[in-house]
Amino acid sequence: MDSVDVAVVGYGPVGMVTAALLGAAGHRVVVLERYAGLYNLPRAAIFDDETMRTFARVGIAEELLPKIHVQRNYEWRNAAGELLIEHDFAASGRSGWAEWYMMYQPELESALDERVRAAGVDVRFESPVTALTEHADHVELLTGGRRPGSVRARWVVACDGGNSFVRSALGRTMDDYGFSEPWMVCDFRFRDPAHPPAVPTARQVGDPAGPTSIISLGPAHHRFSYMLDSVEDFEVERDPGKVWARTRRWLSPDDAELIRVATYTFRSLVTDRWRVGRTLLAGDAAHQMPPFLGQGMCSGVRDAQNIAFKLDAVLRGRLGDEVLDTYQQEREPHVRAVIEKGIELGRQQTVRDPERAAERDRVLLARRAADQHPEKIAFPGLVDGLLAAASGDGRGALMAQGWVDDGTRRDRLDQVVGPGAHLLLDASRVTLDDDLVALLADAGVRVVPLHDSGAAGAAELDPGHVVDADGTHLAWLAARGVAAAAVRPDFYVFGTAADPAATDALARELAAALGAPALVTR
Ligand SMILES: Cc1cc2nc3c(=O)[nH]c(=O)nc-3n(C[C@H](O)[C@H](O)[C@H](O)COP(=O)(O)OP(=O)(O)OC[C@H]3O[C@@H](n4cnc5c(N)ncnc54)[C@H](O)[C@@H]3O)c2cc1C
Repeated sequence: MDSVDVAVVGYGPVGMVTAALLGAAGHRVVVLERYAGLYNLPRAAIFDDETMRTFARVGIAEELLPKIHVQRNYEWRNAAGELLIEHDFAASGRSGWAEWYMMYQPELESALDERVRAAGVDVRFESPVTALTEHADHVELLTGGRRPGSVRARWVVACDGGNSFVRSALGRTMDDYGFSEPWMVCDFRFRDPAHPPAVPTARQVGDPAGPTSIISLGPAHHRFSYMLDSVEDFEVERDPGKVWARTRRWLSPDDAELIRVATYTFRSLVTDRWRVGRTLLAGDAAHQMPPFLGQGMCSGVRDAQNIAFKLDAVLRGRLGDEVLDTYQQEREPHVRAVIEKGIELGRQQTVRDPERAAERDRVLLARRAADQHPEKIAFPGLVDGLLAAASGDGRGALMAQGWVDDGTRRDRLDQVVGPGAHLLLDASRVTLDDDLVALLADAGVRVVPLHDSGAAGAAELDPGHVVDADGTHLAWLAARGVAAAAVRPDFYVFGTAADPAATDALARELAAALGAPALVTR
């Protein structure tokens, strides 16, 4: 029987990111996937700047850029075509990448697959997991299909999607928000992507007779989605002739090829326990949501980041496995906030009663006339979990990312500091003694003193110091009245400190939380 550190069940985007991160960290990882190869059909379309930050960490951001589309707005219109709401998205958001990207998922998966293999992960297709048994120090997984066999894994990350076999085998239940809508999703490939037809790239049409969504899937593909009256309509409406009749206003067979029609009942579900012994559930196996905010896959990518750095510390013997209990503690409130926001927006967009839709339109048009802009869509930070004890301003927030210069190159912070946790310091206010720097290094934490671009040239700096080239990080610290921020490998802020004494204490606390060998007393 093969023995590995981690078995990842399922090779969708969440399994791929999990495998890429853990493989790159040097662990023995096997992926068990039921299909014979990459799925090769689009599901997710939109991803955000935080997700792009993870894709950059995995090493695929530059490769993706020419294949994806940066979307700067998201319009809601009524049946008459009047603009009800327009959400704006920045070309560079808090995470240092564009706030909304539109993609063709097979291109993402091909890029991820390459990174997974480059990280030395053993990817096994045609290997559906059919049973798993937990033992004291490992889990035994049985695979069926054309490659029957068994694998012995110290840890299992189940990324096997909405109908997760692993979740059922563990006897888990789902909390159902009661949201259930039948939709038909129609995907097209442009015949001449260099001259695409004039089609809206992110539009929601709140027509009570048939709510519709039109979105770009990157430069060469497009998606039209239609809410249907009932699941009974699925079979009839999938007919290609009927699909072309629906899209006629925007697209004809001369412009595009219809590549896929899929029907879904969009639901919102959260699994009760995301960790059972040596198995962690991630992505759609742990939670599902309607795609109105484009956050299902993005949420799963956050799960992968959260799991990867904690499992890495456990596998290295730096931390006990209790740290894995903070995974659900941290991620579930975040996922629920995203789901609840998605349902709120979805219910507004898909009103089927004409009178209620007319009333909604009146309210939203009046707001626009009064120049009231919609609230920016934002998600919460972490509240409880692997965080500093003191609730300093910024603790639990997603750390902003800008550009820095270390004297050899100017790049985004994540690219310059590399994977792992880091302690950002306002170099004009705090320094750290060498013994603390060494203690942090043992826990895999890099100390990054930041200098104001007006005060220092990068060439004059000590090794490891950087110029805060666009001012993002020093501004973030100053806005919170702090001099230091400890940032976890998943980009969330462990804690902040306002003065030198508090910074020393924060450094020690971070080293202990990440299992610096000198502090491990277990
Ligand atoms: C129409 C639509 C639009 C969407 N749009 C967006 C969007 O714009 N943005 C966004 O972020 N999200 C979006 N989502 C959600 C997103 O697609 C999912 O959240 C995401 O695919 C979940 O990824 P996953 O890896 O967890 O699961 P999946 O992608 O479902 O992958 C699960 C994998 O596990 C494999 N598997 C299953 N059972 C077994 C087994 N027993 N053994 C081995 N392998 C197994 C499957 O074959 C599959 O490859 C959308 C979803 C839909 C349906």
